[in-house]
Amino acid sequence: MSDRRLISFVLPVYNEEGNIDLLHDTLAETVGALPYDLEFVFVNDGSADGSMGVLESLAARDPRVTVVDLSRNFGHQVAVTAGLDTARGDAIIIMDADLQDPPRVCVDLITEWEAGSDVVYAQRRTRQDTAFKRVTAHAYYRVLGRLTDIDIPPDTGDFRLIDRRVHEHLARYREHHRFIRGMVVDAGFRHTAVQFDRDARHAGTTGYPLRALVKLATDGIFGFSTKPLQLISRAGYVMAFLAVLAAGYATIARLFFPERVVEGWAFVVVAMAFIGGLQLIMLGILGSYIGRIYNEVKRRPLYGVQRVIGGPGPRDHG
Ligand code: UDP
Ligand code: MG
Repeated sequence: MSDRRLISFVLPVYNEEGNIDLLHDTLAETVGALPYDLEFVFVNDGSADGSMGVLESLAARDPRVTVVDLSRNFGHQVAVTAGLDTARGDAIIIMDADLQDPPRVCVDLITEWEAGSDVVYAQRRTRQDTAFKRVTAHAYYRVLGRLTDIDIPPDTGDFRLIDRRVHEHLARYREHHRFIRGMVVDAGFRHTAVQFDRDARHAGTTGYPLRALVKLATDGIFGFSTKPLQLISRAGYVMAFLAVLAAGYATIARLFFPERVVEGWAFVVVAMAFIGGLQLIMLGILGSYIGRIYNEVKRRPLYGVQRVIGGPGPRDHG
């Protein structure tokens, strides 16, 4: 064992046969020039191409490579999680395996980490994406910011470095619908951003069809917010208020202009609005309980500990 610190790379792979070797070699060259030990954790997320063969021969020629071959395709967020569960580094860098996240940026991430940050985001200054993706991503982060308590920095993906302590803390988030960039914000610790220009994919095609993006987007909102549930009770109060107005109107009409209303009309209108409002309010109450159940079953850590001075600190933190 050397006394150098260990940097782990978590690299999810889904049909990246044309990128793996280049990614590994470039990382080994750029980051390998720094005084750290390296560990490469490749997670094969059920690739249908020759990725696994490439990974096997890579592991055979570089002992620093670990390959986790998942039993099927579980999706990017789960693949990254499997990699995180495997990585042992003092710092862990999560990045895509298609060279869209340029290896040279890792040097900047490590510099910021050495300067005392626990989480270093790589923030895109520019990106080679379609106008559609840029506009929807921008709008999405605004909605997410309004609906949730987490403020995800705009233009960041999962490309980032996390310190070992953040890593240990994140390991306690075991929810199934995963939105890792939200979990990292939820975790806290000291964050900084590093700017970079995102490249185009080196080889192959995107494994993130619109369907998967929509799923990720919904996991972000529903995983970090129960506000949609609260909307039910709000709608209920609005309906109940309208019922009161309708009742007033119907009473006045019945008393002062009896010739203009049909027999039984007032009762029907008032009863309808009243029952509608009542039902929505009741649903809202159920919603509040469901929201709480939801938050409890996620079993997220209650808090994260940045530092303890004098004493061993909480026994089971979070
Ligand atoms: N990926 C994965 N499982 C999937 C889809 C993608 O592990 O089901 C990996 C993929 O190999 C890449 C990263 O996640 O390393 C990002 O995927 P991609 O480049 O296809 O997404 P995009 O950059 O187009 O958003
Ligand atoms: Mg990509």
